[in-house]
Amino acid sequence: MKALPRRWPIALIVPLVAVLASTSPAPAANSARAQRSDSLDTLRDPALVVGTLANGLRYYIRANAMPAGRVELRLVVNAGSVLEDDDQQGMAHFLEHMAFNGTTHFPQQSLIDFVEASGMRFGPDLNAYTNYDETVYMLTVPTDEPRILAQGLTVMQDWASGGTLIDSAEVVAERGVVLGEWRSRLPDTASQTIQKHQRTVLFGSGARYLDRLPIGLPTQVETARREPLQRFYKDWYRPDLMAVVVVGDIDPAAIEREIVDRFGKIPKPTKPRPRPVAKVPVASETVIDVYRGQVTPSVQVLWPVAESPREPRAIVERRLVEQLMLQPLEERFLRMRELASRPFVVVNLQRGSVARPLDLIGFQLIAWPDSLERALATVLAELERGAQHGIPKPALDLQKAALLAHLEHAAASAPARSSKTYAGEYTQHYLTHAGLVVSAEQELKLAREILPGITPEVIARAAQFWRASVGRKVLVSLPELAHTRPPTRASILAIFDSVARTALSAPAARTLAAGPLMTVAPTGGRIASETRHQASGITEWKLSNGARVLFKPSQNDPDELLLRAWSAGGFSLVPDSLFFGSGRMVARMMTQAAGLGAHDREDLTAQLATTGVRELTVDIGYGDESIALAGSPSEMETLFQMLHLQFTAPRLDTAALAGWKNYAKYQGRAFSLLDQLNQTFARGNPRLMPVSTNLAELVDLNRAMAVYHDRFGNAGDFTFTIVGAATVEQIRPLVERYLAMLPATTEREVPKDPKVRPFLMRMRNTVKPFDIPKASTLLVFDGMFATEPGEYLAERERLATLTGVLSARLRTRLREELSATYGVNVFDRTYPLPMEHYQVLINFDAAPERMGAMNREMLAILDSVRANGATRAELSKIATIQHRQLETQLQDNDYWMQRIGLFDRLKIPLDRIVTPYSDTSMTPEALSAAAQRYLPKDVYIHTIAMPQDSAKTTSGR
Ligand SMILES: [Zn+2]
Repeated sequence: MKALPRRWPIALIVPLVAVLASTSPAPAANSARAQRSDSLDTLRDPALVVGTLANGLRYYIRANAMPAGRVELRLVVNAGSVLEDDDQQGMAHFLEHMAFNGTTHFPQQSLIDFVEASGMRFGPDLNAYTNYDETVYMLTVPTDEPRILAQGLTVMQDWASGGTLIDSAEVVAERGVVLGEWRSRLPDTASQTIQKHQRTVLFGSGARYLDRLPIGLPTQVETARREPLQRFYKDWYRPDLMAVVVVGDIDPAAIEREIVDRFGKIPKPTKPRPRPVAKVPVASETVIDVYRGQVTPSVQVLWPVAESPREPRAIVERRLVEQLMLQPLEERFLRMRELASRPFVVVNLQRGSVARPLDLIGFQLIAWPDSLERALATVLAELERGAQHGIPKPALDLQKAALLAHLEHAAASAPARSSKTYAGEYTQHYLTHAGLVVSAEQELKLAREILPGITPEVIARAAQFWRASVGRKVLVSLPELAHTRPPTRASILAIFDSVARTALSAPAARTLAAGPLMTVAPTGGRIASETRHQASGITEWKLSNGARVLFKPSQNDPDELLLRAWSAGGFSLVPDSLFFGSGRMVARMMTQAAGLGAHDREDLTAQLATTGVRELTVDIGYGDESIALAGSPSEMETLFQMLHLQFTAPRLDTAALAGWKNYAKYQGRAFSLLDQLNQTFARGNPRLMPVSTNLAELVDLNRAMAVYHDRFGNAGDFTFTIVGAATVEQIRPLVERYLAMLPATTEREVPKDPKVRPFLMRMRNTVKPFDIPKASTLLVFDGMFATEPGEYLAERERLATLTGVLSARLRTRLREELSATYGVNVFDRTYPLPMEHYQVLINFDAAPERMGAMNREMLAILDSVRANGATRAELSKIATIQHRQLETQLQDNDYWMQRIGLFDRLKIPLDRIVTPYSDTSMTPEALSAAAQRYLPKDVYIHTIAMPQDSAKTTSGR
């Protein structure tokens, strides 16, 4: 869902490399061994229990009921690849893998068996990551069976107390899996060179981080042995470097007793190996690097950020000032993107850390080869403008109000804050002390105290960070073919210097047209009939204008209300004269550039920034059109007014369109695998192709609006779905006032059949896109799916069970037994075209020389499932996983919105949303039949991607 330009997420600097897996509590059972860490933070969430055991292990415990019936367990180890000895490169990560391959209480693969038997999944519910500075293990288990929770804690205890067995045979077996991960993450040769170069610039030559990539060296991974792994485990997995985090539907006092009993026993090492604090050299003057290669022309400028304060109030203050400083800059660069004269394509502000001692702030601009320096000067001037003037008080007040609205929402929806989110905060708090352990209410209270003191002068002082040359890094990338004079150190420094000495005017404050969204309340329509769907709690209304409303009250998030208007039709019904050119981009324009009623886009955004309205998206697909809104129930009337106006008075003017054109034409879309598949299946039918905006310049306002009215002119053909924290009594009058009287006709649309039928043959093709030693396989089954409403759910269950069985079997065979790949993705979906179709995708990477054999293994597994289905044990495991997933899905409003839309479109009784699975358990025969139907032996597309011949020879890994 596309958010209304939310005010705070600044593009995080993606780490250059990352690798994948209170009631007043009773006093501690053995207080002698546990010390409550009240001194840790002056202000702390009262629901959070933090303590340190006598052996130094820290623990965080918080009861949290979202999702109900689950608990998040974390073992956080303050040790990562930067601590590796020369013969251990990649072993911190390898060790993390070994934790899943046998522990004291879970030998061999029994840990994964335990997780799956509890209805959880390897990956989403059991995972870990290793980076330069830490290793974090994550396990989610249900809490409705004390036995399972106890076993979950035992898993953590094993890992923390030397219980990871590191069996030599298992080490040998895991080599191929970790190499598979290295291979899957290996970028093409050119990107490898660029990334290696950028790491050197960012870390500075000689930094230990440069030689300690978490994935390590393939040569060492290939020959991994028990001893270096055991040494790393012994040296660094010790109580004073570990924390246990437990957040979920649990009793904190009972968990605290468990932690003291279980983890208090871990002996404190007598002569612990000193943990070095890896440093990154900070250059005393600006580092300027000009790189020529297969790159996009860009300039990235980064500054080190001072170490995070520790005191919660100081942390909150710094975050507030940073956001108030960066947000107006973000908006200014967005507005500049709409100018034809701008010297850059895009500017992304960046904030984040590449490694613990390298916390950075800065920007990256992308421009044309001949305008890099002009673009740099333009961006720096905006930074300097902020440094000289801060932001004008009226604009600052608006920003503050928007920030408060954001924090009020966080506080109001605190009950919906997920245990994963809390666990992530506590993990960061333990590792960097930059995480906050205050509640959303406390953060809001602090913000209310702090914000009045943040003046334009405070912002100006904060914005002066850009003038600092200590630790400043400038990374210029220029395509080697560009015939322009590359920037030099001198020319870059001259730009910094001249901008710093230029007196600049204060940022222009735009006078915003205020005033209500609607001045006249519409004359209401009527609810013609009401039906209650008991089991799902959905109320259905038929309206006087023919439209339908489906309302699901839900307290999953007390501060969330979702609205969606949907109708069948889409591009399939747009006449050619309108479709080609402008027509297909109108939804994107409405979402990105339109206003409503008397408010243009900017007025609307500013007006809504201080409210709880969070999203407005318009979409037109091949067979349907929709409008989606989200916000706080406190803005219920505003949300209905916006929905009403999106039908009756969308405002797209020439100025907004002109700006959008300049913005959209560069809004390329990474061509995904799914796009490629859709293109194959679209067989060239333009109405089925993904919409791209690089023809934005051709857009004609009138033609675009003609398509819009063609699609959204008849509200009678729409179904309005509302999910969220409201009551029938609150929603009914708003439905009558804003929806029941929307313009409508009696026409009911059915999408046109594009007459693209599934392939009826086997298609195999081999392509050679890779210049690295990697091969990838993609197997696709696609075809018609059950269309009878009564059939859909049963068939959907069979299809999902089938892919569940395939996923487990392929993972066991190709990863665990043959160590040939890091993972196998098995994915299924159904989709309307407009008749329901299904798709099954199987994809994995492997070493080129093994791909042939692995494909044969995959096809053999498909054959065996077609012939014999699956065992009752496999089927019951998948059924448990499906039912467990449903438990948490029903606690998610987006899930309800998606399900109501699907069930209503397919005319499946809405009450089946809470009971979608059949009562009778699936039989092996039924699954064999499903495999023959959905995985036909001679009808599929199999694409094998291999390396170019030249790449195959290098390293031969
Ligand atoms: Zn991994």
